[in-house]
Amino acid sequence: MTEAMAETMQVRAAVFRGTDGDRLSVETLALAPPEHGEVRVAVRAAGVCGSDRHVLDGEWQVPLPAVMGHEAAGVVEAVGAGVRGLAVGNHVVIAWHQACQRCGECAGGKPWACTRARSNDSLLPDGTTRWSDAADGSAAFPYLATGAMAEAIVVPEFAAIKIDERVPFDVASLIGCSVGTGYGAVANNARVVAGESAVVVGAGGVGLSIIAALRLAGANPIVAVDVSEAKLAEAERAGATGALLSGPDLAERVHEATGGGADVAFEAIGRVPTMQQLPELIRPGGRAVFVGLPPEGQKVEIDGLLLAYEGKTIIGSNYGGLVPARDFPRVAGAYLSGALPLDDLISARVGLDEVNEAFDAMRRGERTRSVILFER
Ligand SMILES: [Zn+2]
Ligand SMILES: [Zn+2]
Repeated sequence: MTEAMAETMQVRAAVFRGTDGDRLSVETLALAPPEHGEVRVAVRAAGVCGSDRHVLDGEWQVPLPAVMGHEAAGVVEAVGAGVRGLAVGNHVVIAWHQACQRCGECAGGKPWACTRARSNDSLLPDGTTRWSDAADGSAAFPYLATGAMAEAIVVPEFAAIKIDERVPFDVASLIGCSVGTGYGAVANNARVVAGESAVVVGAGGVGLSIIAALRLAGANPIVAVDVSEAKLAEAERAGATGALLSGPDLAERVHEATGGGADVAFEAIGRVPTMQQLPELIRPGGRAVFVGLPPEGQKVEIDGLLLAYEGKTIIGSNYGGLVPARDFPRVAGAYLSGALPLDDLISARVGLDEVNEAFDAMRRGERTRSVILFER
């Protein structure tokens, strides 16, 4: 434990106030010290992930002002009282879904299903925030209980997962959301086994992570689908064995490429039309996994006979069914062994001041993944 931990810090962060369209402002906020069971992490890398964009573009409502970002890795720099598993200097990946650790779901190994988690309220598990305005003291809120686009953050000990120091911070940050979600969708939700055929609709950050995890699981063939030729080329680099441009006869072409429909299909965009089509891409008895998050309140229509007669299964995926303390080190280990190539998933490394440009590039569909790097 360090003495310095009792200090409130001034921290630069990307803040969304909702008063200037979809723009974030880089501001200095006050960050209170870690309390019992909490740690302060010096963020070294924060991924620019799609669910932040839902907020900036008005599709999801969260408390404002919000410190944005939820995909991060860094170094523990202070620990609160009662912290036993982490020490200053540990390299950690942040888990944004901060379950209560006490309910039946948490005890049963399904922290992602915890109904007491406050992440969606942009609050730490105890219902509070450590952020405030440096000038007037009014509260600011960590998006998804993380608020990772900041030089430092405070999170519960259990949300900072220690990983091997050999994993570079930019790659490590992705494990906390896109890569972890993709890995978990394959390993935990769909439970893909070697030799199964797979199709992945959407070759963005999460889609490419799913493809890499499918390759790790031994799936074959792995067919990527996207509207962009450039993204399909990236999908092939990530491990896809085939690539198809979306189009009206997509289901037919997927059936051809997989010998009658894939064993398992993943939707990694969150678009209702592609979600609706997913069960048509799999064979009878196949699994369709919904990973992409649609805007609030949108309905997906599915032909009931595909389920009741053809025996297809729809599988939901929240945070890839991850148990972060178990799965983050597994993903890190697979990366270090060379079995899970993740370096190519990062298409741009930027500074905190370039955060708006990074989101604009995402909106134009140009970049797979930008990562904000912090120098300290
Ligand atoms: Zn719980
Ligand atoms: Zn994310």
